[in-house]
Amino acid sequence: MPRRTELIEGLMQRHSQVPREAVIKEDLLRGGIAFDESALTDSANEATGDVKPKSYFIFSFDHGTLPELGEAALRRPPEEIVLTGGPYELRRTVVSVRVNPSSPYRVAADADGLLGLYLDGQRISDVGLPPMPDYYRHTLAGGKSVMEVAPTIQWGYLIYLTVFRVCQYFGAKEECQYCDINHNWRQHKAAGRPYTGVKPVEEVLEALEIIDKYDTAKTSTAYTLTGGAVTSTIGGKDEADFYGQYAKAIEERFPGRWIGKVVAQALPKEDVQRFHDYGVRIYHPNYEVWDRYLFERYCPGKERYVGRDEWHRRILDSAEVFGPRNVIPNFVAGVEMAEPFGFKTVDEAIDSTVEGLRYFMAHGITPRFTTWCPEPTTPLGKANPLGAPLEYHVRLLQEYRATMEEFGLSSPPGYGPAGPGNAVFSVSSFMDSLPA
Ligand code: SF4
Repeated sequence: MPRRTELIEGLMQRHSQVPREAVIKEDLLRGGIAFDESALTDSANEATGDVKPKSYFIFSFDHGTLPELGEAALRRPPEEIVLTGGPYELRRTVVSVRVNPSSPYRVAADADGLLGLYLDGQRISDVGLPPMPDYYRHTLAGGKSVMEVAPTIQWGYLIYLTVFRVCQYFGAKEECQYCDINHNWRQHKAAGRPYTGVKPVEEVLEALEIIDKYDTAKTSTAYTLTGGAVTSTIGGKDEADFYGQYAKAIEERFPGRWIGKVVAQALPKEDVQRFHDYGVRIYHPNYEVWDRYLFERYCPGKERYVGRDEWHRRILDSAEVFGPRNVIPNFVAGVEMAEPFGFKTVDEAIDSTVEGLRYFMAHGITPRFTTWCPEPTTPLGKANPLGAPLEYHVRLLQEYRATMEEFGLSSPPGYGPAGPGNAVFSVSSFMDSLPA
């Protein structure tokens, strides 16, 4: 049996509590997918075609730079794929697309034109593509596309508003070592793609107007306001007022239409209160990696400007504003094992990660995680092109669920349905692994 197939089947057997779907999804997220030309979208233009293209909504989430992706840079791959059936009898599984031309996983059409996912040459599932939403076919008055200003992900559930496309933590001494936000901005600019650095509030409202009008099934349920850290100001506004102004405008124009979320730094309580006053309902002050030694090395800007202990204190304080259920800090699952500083064994990495989960869950706060994509232009991606061992990701899913149960917590709000076959959260399989 080829080695990758052996690896996933061994983990499915040893960790039978983790849904099979999640094992494959994690492997696709950490290592990426190759696309046959038959599986790429019709054009680089997001307004035409039948398939919803990859929007590059914040980071590149690819295993190569645009020039290295070949045809996939010219004819965009889909935003997400959905897996079903095959020898593992997969229930419906939504997976965010991370392109890797040398991945052992390949999406291709068979002789009848039906798309499948192939591993080591064997077809392991059917593949569905996201249909082009009606709202992507309309442009703003100034000509910008809805996909550029207000892309949707998670099969249309979440409107992802990266309103600040770069980060004020800049350069090797400040940028988080796994983050390619600044590089992604540069590469889109270099490729001549539209990519707005700071999105004007009016454009965001105009794009939301179009989504609201054409999303008649009301699939879009939440919006996330996010972007790079603001360490000084943008247009005279600090981080809370900068991101908050969008929430305020959205809530005034479309009161209660979507659940408002913000991913921002862990800010002092007065600033967090301003987010809440502006209408944000869920706050993501991401703690990135739990271990102190790794946080100091991986997040040098955050360590210098705020510091790990203060960051954690602020997360706990923000629960007094939002309520602990609505504070959902993210960590980047897998960087715990990145060379050269990371843990050398899966056991150590899991122990450390669970210590962080327990710290927050003991306060009623439910962290969540995205699966690390080792983008090649980041220091950690360059040193670890294969990402973290799949065993780490699978065991994390098991421990995450067990720790939540221990503290009497259930799946966090604002992520859509939970459970295998139901989840739409596409950048990790934590929602696929929780009870429905
Ligand atoms: S704070 Fe770190 S993770 Fe967030 S955008 Fe800036 S460099 Fe990236």
